[in-house]
Amino acid sequence: MSLQAEEETFRFQAEAAQILDLMANSLYSNKEIFLRELVSNSSDAIDRLRIERFSRPELAEDGDDEPRIQVSFDKDAGTITVADNGIGMSREEVIENIGTIAKSGTSEFLRSLTGDQRRDTALIGQFGVGFYAAFIVAERVVLTTRRAGLPVDEGVRWASDGKGEYTLETVERAERGTTIVLHLRDGEDELLNEHRLRSIIKRYSDHIARPITVGEDDSAVNQASALWTRPKSELKDGDYHEYYKQLTGDFTDPLGYVHAKVEGRYDYTLLLFVPSRAPYDLWMPEPGQGVRLHVQRVFILEDNGRLLPRYLRFVRGIIDSADLPLNVSREILQGSQAIDHIRASAVKKLLRLLKDMADGEPDKYAEFWTQFGAVLKEGVFDDPAHREDIAGLLRFTSTRSGREARVSLADYVSGMKDGQDKIYYLLAPGLSDAAASPHLEAFRAKDIEVLLLDDAVDNFVVTGLAQYEGKQLQSVAQGPPDFGGMADEAEKEAAEQADTAYADLLGKLKEHLDGKAFDVRVTSRLTTSPACIVANEAETDFTVARRLRGSGLPAQPILEINPGHPLVERLNRGQDDPRLADWAHVLYDQAVLTSGARIEEPGAFVSRLNDLLVSLTDGDQSG
Ligand code: ADP
Repeated sequence: MSLQAEEETFRFQAEAAQILDLMANSLYSNKEIFLRELVSNSSDAIDRLRIERFSRPELAEDGDDEPRIQVSFDKDAGTITVADNGIGMSREEVIENIGTIAKSGTSEFLRSLTGDQRRDTALIGQFGVGFYAAFIVAERVVLTTRRAGLPVDEGVRWASDGKGEYTLETVERAERGTTIVLHLRDGEDELLNEHRLRSIIKRYSDHIARPITVGEDDSAVNQASALWTRPKSELKDGDYHEYYKQLTGDFTDPLGYVHAKVEGRYDYTLLLFVPSRAPYDLWMPEPGQGVRLHVQRVFILEDNGRLLPRYLRFVRGIIDSADLPLNVSREILQGSQAIDHIRASAVKKLLRLLKDMADGEPDKYAEFWTQFGAVLKEGVFDDPAHREDIAGLLRFTSTRSGREARVSLADYVSGMKDGQDKIYYLLAPGLSDAAASPHLEAFRAKDIEVLLLDDAVDNFVVTGLAQYEGKQLQSVAQGPPDFGGMADEAEKEAAEQADTAYADLLGKLKEHLDGKAFDVRVTSRLTTSPACIVANEAETDFTVARRLRGSGLPAQPILEINPGHPLVERLNRGQDDPRLADWAHVLYDQAVLTSGARIEEPGAFVSRLNDLLVSLTDGDQSG
């Protein structure tokens, strides 16, 4: 025989043992999920075989046409076995799929968890722990498999105690497919029970589209029909929730779902869920999970980016199309009209679901916003066609809302003052900076609400949006102070007078701040602070964006001074002060600080300030 009988030992990649341990311990309170994970892998393997057979009919083997997933147990040996006649794996595939524990990013993430988080099953569960869930209940796992199409003597046996090493052996295996034997840990005997196994399958795997049998009984334990193909009237919230958890590995119920069967030019079914918590990889460039595409109920691929737009990348679920070919590839998806159509309808239905939630269950929507608002916002500039709908879903902190509560643009508009014709906002690196910003002083005094935007993406949102219901969005920190229709004539006059009265001082300050301030001017924006920095109105949105990075300053910073402030009045009276340059820099730097930005030379600022303090003290003594 040409069989290589010898067994080879391999090591998992570093930390694998730790990760396994962590998973097993964290998930122990939900240990039954081990079966759900294995059964779901078997079901996928059967689907993949079916797809591959379309292009490679030679893969058909005698008498194997009935797909099946068999669960059995042996009380004496203390084992549970899960077997399928799916596609199986070659030696390389076993090494790649089963020998690699942590998908990219997973191990870093797991290591970063703190003690409490490590016990948080919901967090750990997000990974779709998959095959390794076997080690929650097993001390040793033996997997035997043969890839469809490979000769009988190219079977593979993989065995491991999950402690860092596994062995591989080439074996003979008559049937293609995969068999997994779990040698249970001490104390897990209660699982060696037909009734128990049936109820676990019923609970977690009822909707698996393939028949699952337990023990000697040949009849399927599960419904063996895909959940989304069943009529809505038959299904309860609980069914959907259970299905969602199986699909995603999440341990918490979703916030909402859409289930729609559409017939017409294209026939398809959508079952889409909005999770209640952000997955750990929401902000990674290529989030792992997405929406699963099925063609005539056969699982084809999971995709994040093509089936739904990126700003809905938190959505999980199923799209099942009757119009695509079974051998559809990612490339074909790109140009498919059926997919374009389905995608457009999915977006519409999801935005409608969110709107209904926002209108009908505001508390729930607030939870949604906390988890996914920053992602949904991207839709404002990514999906102009739905900009209006998305604008209605946006929520902001404002000078009226307080820190935790949030307002919608509609709330804002309904609270506008008589004569107010603009929606005001302030972009700041953080909410504390925003709330303390001098730019708000006059708006506070006039009781005009200002939206406080502290999210990096917000500057794209306001420029993308530009207006809402005909009301222009206006920054309170850009351009000359603009109170829309709200400035009274007396104020305008006072400002003009101040300009003349301060012309000399402005000229001197400008000279001293050459290279730092783009311009210096008098403002009516301030009531209590002596000065503030604003962005030049001619700056484009991208310079506004850039100002949130780097030093945090606009590219063309303008120093505005408050003519009503005693310090400014004093400078105006004593323009011959030899320390005017110091005053100019100190005014400028403190305005930079209150804008939430960094000052270029903190050392120079402090020594100038100290010099001024000393000079004032000296003045006191001599006077
Ligand atoms: P996931 O299913 O999320 O990809 P798993 O750890 O459960 O992660 O499985 C890793 C891979 O191993 C699967 O993607 C699949 O390629 C392969 N695999 C697991 N179980 C089987 C099986 N019963 N038959 C064929 N391949 C399998």
